[in-house]
Amino acid sequence: MNSSDQTPLTQGVQDRIDALLAATPKGLLIDGVWGESSDGSTFEVENPATQEVIATMSSATEEDARAAMDAAAAAQEPWARTPVRERAEILRRAFDLVQERAEELALLMTLEMGKPLAQSRGEVAYGGEFLRWFSEEAVRDYGRYAQTPEGSLRMLVTRKPVGPCLLITPWNFPLAMATRKVAPAVAAGCTMVLKPAALTPLTAQYFAQIMLDAGLPDGVLNVVSTNNASAISEPIMRDPRLRKVSFTGSTPVGKHLMKLAAENVLRTSMELGGNGPLIVFEDADLDKAVAGAMAAKMRNMGEACTAANRLLVHESVADEFVARLAEKMSVLTLGSGLEDGVDVGPLIDARACESMESLVADAVGGGAQVVTGGRRAEGAGYFFEPTVLRDVASDARVLREEIFGPVAPVITFRDEAEAVALANSTEYGLASYVFTENISRGLRIGDRVEFGLMGLNVGVISNAAAPFGGVKQSGLGREGGAEGIAEYTSTQYIGVENP
Ligand code: NAD
Repeated sequence: MNSSDQTPLTQGVQDRIDALLAATPKGLLIDGVWGESSDGSTFEVENPATQEVIATMSSATEEDARAAMDAAAAAQEPWARTPVRERAEILRRAFDLVQERAEELALLMTLEMGKPLAQSRGEVAYGGEFLRWFSEEAVRDYGRYAQTPEGSLRMLVTRKPVGPCLLITPWNFPLAMATRKVAPAVAAGCTMVLKPAALTPLTAQYFAQIMLDAGLPDGVLNVVSTNNASAISEPIMRDPRLRKVSFTGSTPVGKHLMKLAAENVLRTSMELGGNGPLIVFEDADLDKAVAGAMAAKMRNMGEACTAANRLLVHESVADEFVARLAEKMSVLTLGSGLEDGVDVGPLIDARACESMESLVADAVGGGAQVVTGGRRAEGAGYFFEPTVLRDVASDARVLREEIFGPVAPVITFRDEAEAVALANSTEYGLASYVFTENISRGLRIGDRVEFGLMGLNVGVISNAAAPFGGVKQSGLGREGGAEGIAEYTSTQYIGVENP
């Protein structure tokens, strides 16, 4: 593909985009008011399909970070006292507004992040569900009332909001990563300072306005976008009024934040990187396995923490699996996510393309064969061809590092024990996938793999009602499900004298 083939937008579409960008807040949200940064500094947001600047955002400074923290701290007590039904209704209204403004959210996401519009719409549906799920879950946050075993006391066990939280989100799912944190924090009665990724702040800021429109009181949600993350995270994390940090992003940044969090013994939720195995057994339904691999590898152009990073295929079905996968990968259409019929959008930036080139070169240098793809597309935008590699050496970087792009390395195994050993041979432990028609085998593998998530005969399993999170260096804590709200509460026990 040559990305200069991109079809020019019609005037009608361009007008819609201009109006949407003009209407999206570009300032900082502090105590219910959108304003400029204290020193007037700004940063630019680019469309990765065209490399054009689409917005100029205010960039929060240390002073703005303190102001956001002041607002969150001041709002905490009244917000915690707000009846949970009221908090739930705000979330429900926000869910309804997300449905009403779904096309605007999807368009913003495609403009700043690149994924095809159909996938952006999918993220709006998925991300919106956290608002509905936690609006329903909020009122079922039960406590416990019981006698101590020997009858000496009555126990009252309740869960209280943990307090002001710093929420830091990545660029790959600009809406869902924000709703997955904001919704349970609202449900639990916590106030927040949200720092969206500098590459994709527009969707998060549009969503923050939705929260205000849904009736969220001033100061409960503050948004400090910036292109200098540590200028805001360090003062906020050192502030003794902060109680929790919830971070989604790379493992190295997560480790840095955990060290900072240790100083004030902050609660942490860490949703970090992944290196997911996708295991295809000899008894798999290959149609399902190929479809699952396509979904697990190519959703979001492979820029997902849950992406299948390593395709482990039983040696007896490897040739057929590779041929079918390569056929499907080679017919995908690359292009601007705004165009109809496009399957694969651009990667997020030039660095991402360089990283794909370097991973492929390293694998090929070690003896791997490029079955399809393998190159960056020419022209504007950060496009990389959907790629299948086979005969990849076990020490190739593409097997050891998080790929975060449309490159699928296939390796083979001989038996179940080898498959499990290969799957677990990574410091990460987020998502894994298993394809077998023998469900007992699938569940047995579930017992043996060291991953927080496993898809059995499916390639996409994220759901607002399910606990999402990793083990090992993929992180701590769970988002979504009943577990998601617990991350924003602390348990209090009151021992009451017996009458
Ligand atoms: P990143 O770690 O570079 O950045 C994530 C966020 O942290 C951004 O908002 C960034 O500005 C901010 N940040 C960077 N340095 C910081 C610092 N010193 N202090 C405070 N904040 C800082 O990650 P990314 O490139 O935006 O996202 C991709 C990574 O996110 C991948 O590793 C992916 O696996 C991971 N991810 C994990 C999940 C999950 O749920 N486990 C979900 C999506 C993405």
